[in-house]
Amino acid sequence: MRILILGGTGEARELAADLVAAGADVLSSLAGRVRQPRLPDGPVRVGGFGGAAGLAAFLADEGITHLIDATHPFAGGISANAALAAGQAGVPRLVLRRPAWEPDPSWETVTDVPAAAAAVRDWPGEGVFLTTGRRDLGAFAADDRHLFLVRTVDPPDGRTPPRMTLILDRGPYTVGGESALMREHRVGLLVTKNSGGTMTAAKLQAARDLGVQVIMVRRPPLPPGSAVVATVAEALRWISRDSGAA
Ligand code: NAP
Repeated sequence: MRILILGGTGEARELAADLVAAGADVLSSLAGRVRQPRLPDGPVRVGGFGGAAGLAAFLADEGITHLIDATHPFAGGISANAALAAGQAGVPRLVLRRPAWEPDPSWETVTDVPAAAAAVRDWPGEGVFLTTGRRDLGAFAADDRHLFLVRTVDPPDGRTPPRMTLILDRGPYTVGGESALMREHRVGLLVTKNSGGTMTAAKLQAARDLGVQVIMVRRPPLPPGSAVVATVAEALRWISRDSGAA
């Protein structure tokens, strides 16, 4: 048995740690986007595979027997490639995806980041807290009316909104810290992706407490026919079901 984890998330690191501790043959893969990534336990490779065909070849060359797609819910490209590649290579694939945040009736839910940018353009207030990630900032670059508080892990390298205060940080965050930040920057609107999980959920409670409006970007759909679990424990059970281990 040789397991490849497509990672870049806390769940992927947790799964790798458990598998390494159990003595399994596991390799984690990162895209290489973040300058100083939190590294999982065990062997790690970094960088793209060269599309679905490249990943299929990698699976065959490396003798991978189980593919776990534990990438971020908004990393739709790699998840689509994983589905295609696993099919081509005949390798069983499991998606480990944390549940989405429970929708709140007060949120405005949109299908993608450009739709979020269009909704912001129509919003009459000024202070907008953007937590959609540095690669999505271009969608807001034509908006010179709002004052954007932008929080990213690494500095943006593309187009950004002209009126922007940038904070470099990564979770976990607290409700108290998020409330103080939103108050300090006079935020009236929060724009976020529905990433789910606890690491970055505090901003939603803070927004509720402060009466800050929320624009929530819905997750892209998973490839059809994906087997999905929500927890590391379930992923471990899926792997051990095939390996004969307890
Ligand atoms: P994406 O758009 O789905 O993927 C674009 C390309 O990046 C893929 O086609 C693949 O290149 C490469 N890639 C992505 N994840 C990879 C991985 N784990 N190992 C090797 N190559 C990978 O992905 P993304 O949204 O840029 O996200 C990149 C990574 O950051 C993911 O691993 C994800 O878990 C993590 N992340 C993403 C977000 C987000 O909001 N999107 C947030 C937090 C963490 P090739 O086609 O050349 O193989």
